[in-house]
Amino acid sequence: METFVQAHEAALRLGFFAGIFGAMVLWELLAPRRALYTSKAVRWSNNLGLVVINTLLLRALFPAAAVGMAVFADLHGWGLLNNVDVPAWLGIVTAMIVLDFAIWLQHVAVHAVPLLWRLHRVHHADLDFDVTTGLRFHPLEILLSMLIKFAVIALLGPPVLAVMLFEVVLNGMAMFNHGNVRLPAALDGALRKLVVTPDMHRVHHSTHIDEMNSNFGFNLSVWDRLFGTYRAQPRDGHERMTIGLTAYREPREASWLPGLLLIPFRHSSRQDGTQQDTSVHR
Ligand SMILES: [Zn+2]
Repeated sequence: METFVQAHEAALRLGFFAGIFGAMVLWELLAPRRALYTSKAVRWSNNLGLVVINTLLLRALFPAAAVGMAVFADLHGWGLLNNVDVPAWLGIVTAMIVLDFAIWLQHVAVHAVPLLWRLHRVHHADLDFDVTTGLRFHPLEILLSMLIKFAVIALLGPPVLAVMLFEVVLNGMAMFNHGNVRLPAALDGALRKLVVTPDMHRVHHSTHIDEMNSNFGFNLSVWDRLFGTYRAQPRDGHERMTIGLTAYREPREASWLPGLLLIPFRHSSRQDGTQQDTSVHR
């Protein structure tokens, strides 16, 4: 099983990505949650253009990706789980939970550290919230995420299969929980007891700074509940809330690819939702 997964890792990841992306696109067409602020053609061509750049960059710099790092850690006996004797299933479950917590912590950090927020605000400057928002990150943030993942894998020594599964689940969940989709309230309520739903994560994309500093989770909803950053609903309602950053309302800056790539290098004192700005508003 593990050798099959390693041999077909890239094809499996691409297959899951395409399948989940297609399903979300269809769901957004059939049952959209909000009317879009900018046209789908503009948003998609630019957001997906960024995805192409990021994919090429990652493939060029880290062809073996996170799974390659897990294989390396396994071969060299690096990390906790490569040095303790636990049943395979327990190793996989533990690794996936720890990796999810690491991603949650990283997300809190990119909001709290001004230099990192410069990169992460590219994701938040999206004027709408849909499946492509979940894939829209600045190339430098993508590289940073991969390096952090490498470090966590080196320390944790997770099973290779767990890393492969985690990458597929994280990618799929990022597309799901950024979906501009309508979910029956009862189903949303049941799901979010365990995982992050689109309604839960949409709160995090509010222009209100207090709402932006909540619901940092991507997969499990437990971390925000545990650390007091959980917020059930946006105060303006899902249909009426404003998505994005107050400082970036121009499509030229917030939607078009050249503008997106330049966001980290623009003046940082603009009121765009950093932690520092919170104190100004209080
Ligand atoms: Zn964020």
